[in-house]
Amino acid sequence: MFIDGKWILRDEIDVINPYDYKVIEKITANTRDETKNAIKVAVENKEHMRKLSANNRYKILMRLAEAVSNNKDRFIKLLAVDAGKPVKQGRIEVDRSITALRLSAFYAKELRGETINSENRLIYTKKEPVGVVGAITPFNYPLNLVVHKIAPAIATGNTIVLHPSSKAPLSAILLTKLIENTLKKMKIPLGVFNLITGHGEIVGNEIATNDNVNMVSFTGSVEVGKNIAKNAGMKKIALELGGNNPLIVLDDCDIDKAVESAVKSKYLNSGQVCISVGKVLVHENIYDEFIDKLMDKTRNFNVGNPLEDSTDMGPLITSESADKVENLIKKAISEGGELITGGMRRDSLISPTIISVRENNSLLNVETFGPVLPITKIINMEHGLELANKGNYGLQAGVFTKDINKAMYLAENLEYGGVMINNSPTFRQDNMPFGGVKNSGLGREGIKYTVEEMTETKTIVIHNDFNF
Ligand code: NAP
Repeated sequence: MFIDGKWILRDEIDVINPYDYKVIEKITANTRDETKNAIKVAVENKEHMRKLSANNRYKILMRLAEAVSNNKDRFIKLLAVDAGKPVKQGRIEVDRSITALRLSAFYAKELRGETINSENRLIYTKKEPVGVVGAITPFNYPLNLVVHKIAPAIATGNTIVLHPSSKAPLSAILLTKLIENTLKKMKIPLGVFNLITGHGEIVGNEIATNDNVNMVSFTGSVEVGKNIAKNAGMKKIALELGGNNPLIVLDDCDIDKAVESAVKSKYLNSGQVCISVGKVLVHENIYDEFIDKLMDKTRNFNVGNPLEDSTDMGPLITSESADKVENLIKKAISEGGELITGGMRRDSLISPTIISVRENNSLLNVETFGPVLPITKIINMEHGLELANKGNYGLQAGVFTKDINKAMYLAENLEYGGVMINNSPTFRQDNMPFGGVKNSGLGREGIKYTVEEMTETKTIVIHNDFNF
């Protein structure tokens, strides 16, 4: 859609507001050939980016951070109407994106290698850009997850072909306009950054399989991630995928804090967060009290129009997603789960739902990507650990306990990319390493760590015959 500095605008895909199902915009469905062309343009511009000084890469990112900040309200509105994100959560996403841009600017100047001891030789390493980064992003954080890929790519001197989710592409399109202005002002060739909209299985697939792309940085579902891993060939890949994230609540913890954390985590963005709590594993001594307090907190949730300031939870991204979540609720109940609250649906809105389940319930090992909280009893810490490590996901886990020994034992033994002690699995700070094990992904994001993934280490050895 924005290739080599030219906008290709065709009314081919409806962008739909998930709250009222109105068409808010029409965007281009780029073809495979157009995607190939965008990749070719990115290849042709590799040298420009590689030779761009650290200072200029820093400037692009700082100017972009300022531009996003100046357009905050526009971004927040776009996140509400195309991704269904309540404005108060949209504000946080935009602020995080600005932080990620500034952090990336810092790392543009911090790219450095090392020297290695050797007699009569100087061995040193330097970081070089991989070349062309293909970035493919999902609908749920459609601005921040784009920034988490393109900002480190710019910081490290790579050119970019970006494919944002066709379900929520509008913030990426606005960001592209800001990038265009920034590059123009700095007289940098516009072909260093290309945006491809359209159907993921065509344009995303081309990015993932094209031999001229040097690295694919993908965030999305396990299914698509595995497909990319299978077809990527000899390019670098980074995969940030789905999860079912446990929250273990032991009987010595601050129950109020644990309840608050579980509720905040589960209903953020209607449960459409990769690190949303997927199961709460609560010690039997505090199970009933935990559920009572959980219901109290959940009762006050305001579900409705994302554009209204008072809304806590908006719709799911599509009616198909709401169908999927509704079916998962029915299945969990048919397997013996007890519906504690919620389970109601209007259009794509699903009410905050809590289901008490036994440990063999299928809900404990799927990614619902909806506002459904399964909760189950554990008899002790070891039992919690066993249930948490069951299954194929390994993104982030949370633990509530006041006992440092138990906290350390669980941190050591939970098979997850991150363990949050006395917080939910949903905690993420944009400069910490972030990513999963097992089916939850490959590689780490978090600006410094993405910078590492988006560079190659070159080793230079200078031999010296001089006898010291
Ligand atoms: P998705 O369906 O996998 O889509 C992600 C991206 O892949 C979209 O841009 C999509 O394009 C594209 N795509 C679809 N088919 C493709 C193919 N065959 N080849 C290449 N690209 C293709 O995921 P989603 O529904 O947007 O997002 C939800 C998922 O993302 C959840 O599983 C969630 O856990 C995961 N997620 C993970 C993280 C993390 O950091 N670990 C963060 C956020 C979300 P179209 O939309 O145009 O089809």
